[in-house]
Amino acid sequence: MLKMSQVSKIYLNGSVALRNVDIEIESGEFVFVVGPSGAGKSTFIKMLFREILPTQGSIEVAGIDILSLEAKEIPYLRRRLGIIFQDYRLLPDRTVYENVAFAMQVIEEPYRKIRRSVMNVLDLVGLRDRATSYPHELSGGEQQRVAIARAIVNNPILVIADEPTGNLDPDTSWEIMKIFQEINDSGTTIIMATHDKDIVDAMDKRVIAIENGSIVRDEKHGGYGYEF
Ligand code: ADP
Repeated sequence: MLKMSQVSKIYLNGSVALRNVDIEIESGEFVFVVGPSGAGKSTFIKMLFREILPTQGSIEVAGIDILSLEAKEIPYLRRRLGIIFQDYRLLPDRTVYENVAFAMQVIEEPYRKIRRSVMNVLDLVGLRDRATSYPHELSGGEQQRVAIARAIVNNPILVIADEPTGNLDPDTSWEIMKIFQEINDSGTTIIMATHDKDIVDAMDKRVIAIENGSIVRDEKHGGYGYEF
């Protein structure tokens, strides 16, 4: 599902965010990416959807050499990925339904199929009865659930989440993690960067730890490993 070989990223100001990173992630895995602030986690995550280009190395996502894509092909790559951010990034002037449907309309699906798929994913995240609400009428946890529904409505090959529980309290974070677990149980690969020690320790998934731009630990059933 993901193959990174000898990937390095040096920003224009000279900061080395990643150095000689090799990672392979199989289809169906659930992987946490952990590490101190400034370790290179965001850089790693953003490379997966061509937000950032590495300075050297190669990156394959689902068999696609994503570094050789032309600018016009990048939106197609992103539509095949489900991307979730810490700050939800919903459209404030659209309802819950419209926020999710919007992700499908850009791929021009027929109306009835859109309706069925949107209501299915809203069911999965427990928000069917909030379809006509606007983002500002929802709690943070509910907004993140809308963002997850939007991320999975096109059946992505890979879900990428950057600190998805970073703004949420522990109970709400667990609700979000249950949804991620269900998505993973249905076969979708998940890569999630997080600082949430309790979640990583309890979920017993593969953990990749990055420090100073290098992978310092990669365990099949790992823990968070830091005291913060
Ligand atoms: P993390 O997500 O683990 O906090 P980042 O990937 O954001 O780490 O950052 C890794 C390193 O790269 C840090 O030293 C950071 O200061 C630097 N960095 C991140 N983004 C930029 C940028 N746009 N320009 C210059 N340096 C950057």
